[in-house]
Amino acid sequence: MKTLKGIVASPGIIIGKAYLYLEKEYSTPKYDIKDSEILAEHERFLKAVESATIEIKELKKKKKKKISKEECRLLDSHILMLNDPDITREIITKLHEKKKNVEWILLQVIEENIDKLNATQNEYLKERTTDFVDISQRILRHLLFKKRRSLADLEKEVVLVAGTLLPSDVIGMNKEKVKGIATDGGTKTSHIAILARSFEIPAVVGLSDISTKIESDDELIIDGNKGEVIITPDDVTKKNYRKTQKKWLKHELQLLNMNKLPATTRDGKIINLKANIETPDEVKSAIAHGADGIGLYRSEFLFIQPTGFPSEDEQYKAYSTVLEAMKDKSVCIRTLDYGGEKIIPDFDNRIEGNPLLGWRAVRFYRSYPDIFKTQVRAILRASVHGRLKMMFPMISGIDELKLLMSMVESVKKDLRKKKIEFVEDIDIGIMIEVPSAALTSDILARHTGFFSIGTNDLIQYTLAVDRGNERVAYLYEPFHPGVIRLIQQVIDNAKRRGIPVEMCGEMAGNPYAVALLVGLGLDSFSLSPVRIPEVKKIIRSINMSEAACLVDQVLSMEQTAKIEKTIVKWMEEKLDFNSGKS
Ligand code: PEP
Ligand code: MG
Repeated sequence: MKTLKGIVASPGIIIGKAYLYLEKEYSTPKYDIKDSEILAEHERFLKAVESATIEIKELKKKKKKKISKEECRLLDSHILMLNDPDITREIITKLHEKKKNVEWILLQVIEENIDKLNATQNEYLKERTTDFVDISQRILRHLLFKKRRSLADLEKEVVLVAGTLLPSDVIGMNKEKVKGIATDGGTKTSHIAILARSFEIPAVVGLSDISTKIESDDELIIDGNKGEVIITPDDVTKKNYRKTQKKWLKHELQLLNMNKLPATTRDGKIINLKANIETPDEVKSAIAHGADGIGLYRSEFLFIQPTGFPSEDEQYKAYSTVLEAMKDKSVCIRTLDYGGEKIIPDFDNRIEGNPLLGWRAVRFYRSYPDIFKTQVRAILRASVHGRLKMMFPMISGIDELKLLMSMVESVKKDLRKKKIEFVEDIDIGIMIEVPSAALTSDILARHTGFFSIGTNDLIQYTLAVDRGNERVAYLYEPFHPGVIRLIQQVIDNAKRRGIPVEMCGEMAGNPYAVALLVGLGLDSFSLSPVRIPEVKKIIRSINMSEAACLVDQVLSMEQTAKIEKTIVKWMEEKLDFNSGKS
């Protein structure tokens, strides 16, 4: 038995058998071959090239019209590279010279070609190195017969263990069968943690090396409340955990009983508690947990399915389903936040040095205006089915906002011309998740209908801390004075201009942030449905004047640790809150 300590990602306790998911890592074998085997190795290579070529052609077919010209060209160039006679010649020569297996020879040839490209002064040629890596990985996969395993095909209940998981892995997996998640990488605000919370799957992330410490079928306990994983637990430990699991479930059920009560402070201030969702299925959970609406529908999870980007009609159907299910409650659809870790590996062949500062969210729309406009059409068409709002992610300044508004206008014009019904004056807002947007929120407030503060990104960009990197997770501080000041500034500027301001980052679901945020004047929160009951309980025991005093105290402090200590003490004294720091 061994206990590993990680980062709390999604609450709950589960005991189950591990399923090790390491499909993206290929170790390349190296062994000697005889003269008589050279021909067979060469044929193996040609077969792998043929299979890889068919794979790319099928990919192009599968994506049909959703593929841009640029991407089409890229895939065509990969087909040409795969079948380049010079590479084939080099492989044959090296097979004769080195007498080693073809996987190893292929890596040598690719490396030499990359060195040659890097040595040129030609930027275009230098950029081709990424393509070389990509195609070599593709051929290698075929040589090693390692087809991509799919988590969608899981047949028995498992605890999923991985080095890292992409959001597309989690979206595509068979959620009925994944009872728990444990990963080497990740943090509280990485998208894996957010998705695990959404799907109510207990999860611990940031475990460093669990994927090297266990084998598939090992028994594990995932304690998502403490952030611990116990490997091959003994009988006594399992018995104790079963008791704790029962107690926890009882506690959760009690909290759920609050779903009909309003989130009103002791002195009568009404606070809206809305839900963050990633898929239409989660609406059930939002309603069950008493959400006042959907404050953030992360639409990108419709796009990062293994089946590729959705058509306008598929989007329209998904958005309408959510709107109809929420009836008279508002639903805020955030337009595609593609990029960072939210990618489709087959679509995204380019490797960016710093993807979180790169081609993400609204920046992606510049390259693919049709994808954005198609989404806006689907959203506008769905607007007749309920109370719809739309917001844009990652806005960094007024020019970006103006460009998007003009694109929305052109979509509206086209819909009017075609006499397609939509709500003319839907509320359009922006996320405040880039420091420059927070600092210019007075300007932005004049041009938009509402703000939604995305603290997950706002904190990472303000403090220069990658939100998904467990090595620097200790620096990711929601209570850093710099972060609190920015939040205060955004709330004040929104109020001054008279536009609504909400928070949809994970900070909105942090029990220790609630009183501070309410005291700063925030009256609308959007959070994981599972967190709504606890946040509501806290709001119902807050008094506004006391929360304002807490804000004064906190704003006068210089250090994060001091602020955190003060808040914990305040909560213990005023709210009798002692459920352990989350
Ligand atoms: C945020 O950044 O706070 C946010 C809600 O967006 P996401 O987590 O999807 O980046
Ligand atoms: Mg964000």
